[in-house]
Amino acid sequence: MAITKVWIDDGCIVCNACETTCPEVFHVTEDTCVIRGEVRADGKKDSNLAEQNPLAGTIGADLADQIIEAAEGCPVEVIKYVKV
Ligand code: SF4
Repeated sequence: MAITKVWIDDGCIVCNACETTCPEVFHVTEDTCVIRGEVRADGKKDSNLAEQNPLAGTIGADLADQIIEAAEGCPVEVIKYVKV
């Protein structure tokens, strides 16, 4: 099982829960949450909502459990992902 893509939908309330659960992937700024460029194939650091760019290398397999835990722990359910 692996996560191929992860992105943040509109509506993040900057609670920090996702970064606490999976700091390798999620970074919470002053007003939203972004997917770290280091784990994305395109290297960009933003919500990844528009592009839904894939995760790089083996990140999606290595951190699948943590990404899912972060998504399930998001109080407003804005962390979206594709699992294969
Ligand atoms: S857990 Fe959800 S609401 Fe909280 S910072 Fe992360 S994306 Fe935003």
